[in-house]
Amino acid sequence: GSVYIWFRQDLRVADNQALHAATKMARQHQLTLKAVYIETPLQWQKHDVGLRQLDFLQRHLRCLQQSLAALGVELELWHSDDFDGVNALWQARMRQENVVAIFAGREPELNEIRRDQALLEAEVPLNFTNEHCILPPGSVVNQSGDMYRVFTPFFKRWRELASGMQCQPLKVPAPIAAAFTPQHIISLSVATGDSEMWRAGEGEARQLLQQFVQHHAADYKQQRDFPALDGTSSLSPYLALGIISPRQCLAALLAQFPDAIADDTSPGRCWLSELVWREFYRHLLQAYPSLSMGANFNPLGAHIQWQQDDEAFSAWCEGRTGYPIVDAAMRQLQQTGWMHNRLRMITASFLTKHLLIDWHLGERWFRQQLLDGDLAANNGGWQWSAGTGCDAQPYFRIFNPMTQSEKFDPDASFIRKYVPEVEAWSLKQIHHPDSRMHGQLFAVSDYPMPIVNHSEARERALSRLSVLKKAN
Ligand code: FAD
Repeated sequence: GSVYIWFRQDLRVADNQALHAATKMARQHQLTLKAVYIETPLQWQKHDVGLRQLDFLQRHLRCLQQSLAALGVELELWHSDDFDGVNALWQARMRQENVVAIFAGREPELNEIRRDQALLEAEVPLNFTNEHCILPPGSVVNQSGDMYRVFTPFFKRWRELASGMQCQPLKVPAPIAAAFTPQHIISLSVATGDSEMWRAGEGEARQLLQQFVQHHAADYKQQRDFPALDGTSSLSPYLALGIISPRQCLAALLAQFPDAIADDTSPGRCWLSELVWREFYRHLLQAYPSLSMGANFNPLGAHIQWQQDDEAFSAWCEGRTGYPIVDAAMRQLQQTGWMHNRLRMITASFLTKHLLIDWHLGERWFRQQLLDGDLAANNGGWQWSAGTGCDAQPYFRIFNPMTQSEKFDPDASFIRKYVPEVEAWSLKQIHHPDSRMHGQLFAVSDYPMPIVNHSEARERALSRLSVLKKAN
């Protein structure tokens, strides 16, 4: 008989409970341990998974294949167009051999949950572990047993529950058979983009984590909002695919700042809160399945009259809005597959409030471009920005791109990197592009005029988004 580890999002050999459980069972009952990854190209397309993320996935799967081979386990790549075909694959395997158990990490998204439910109903011997969050969805609830609708009390309860917890990550299991060299290098059957700017592999992720907690985490609160600085961890692409676990992140943070959970003033606290925002959105996704289907968290969001404006949407996507901070950010996304958090907030606010374009379009574009594309965080971030979300920014708080630009890229070094057209402009001109609309002279440039006037756009947004008011 055989026991399987089915890799889905938790693509690592360290701190992997499913791998541990499978290894343990294989040893105890003298079963063959096998590993599987199932590619689902049509499903990925339906979920708008970006080509760059797929390339990163492919490159990382090759690393995982090597790590597993060192443990004496072969990683098989199976193919199903979408989730519907996955059951047939397992049934076929169960006819060929005695599959005693399959271990896999649970996932919070609705289609993933439905896929797993269908497998259980078809008597596939699937066993779940909880690894995509430090505290699993459903375990951080208020006194009535409900999911929190605001982050601060969620975070407080999370800290209470986590403070007594043993969070030492699991080690890589000992080899179960002789190490070998894989015969075929894993290749996905789909076209992929270019993710070479990011190094693949668990070792890389662990190194980034170590460097960050040792050298940057203490200054995170002061530096995290400045895109020109290297102030954040850049771990999101690894966390999104589970190349590193949130528990490994927490353990590394606590090794450096043992009081990060207990003490509000700990220098590690600010980064901890970001790890928990990640969990908050994952818990929400599971508590409110309609979020996976595009629902506004605030039902009043359905009454917003969005603009249909393909021209403006393309200008936003391609970094041609005439607002240098917005354009630099959108070009960073297109060129690197990553965008700084402050800029995600600025560009999402610009699309939904200044251009009044439906947040779903922005969510989709981000997902297609991002290396760290992740339904829970992306949806949470977009709905927060649009004012339709859980614990969202109120609709009447409209980021002023000029003030944001001045405050968070004061010397315009980030902007100049991505928008060379404004190289010769003064700082004042770069931060205040809308003064061009009042006839001010700027150095000759092929850089577009601002696509909207800030004050007019602000007034329009306040009026159009006021349908959200009743809920406040
Ligand atoms: P750090 O600042 O070092 O934070 C550490 C980790 O905490 C991150 O890697 C991430 O896993 C998590 N995290 C941090 N901030 C948030 C947050 N606000 N919400 C949820 N998790 C967070 N993050 C994604 O991982 N995938 C997405 O698709 C995504 N889309 C976003 C869309 C919008 C409109 C907004 C406003 C935010 C989005 N975020 C998303 C959250 C955040 O911008 C990124 O996680 C962060 O910029 C990643 O950089 P980092 O790894 O250096 O983060």
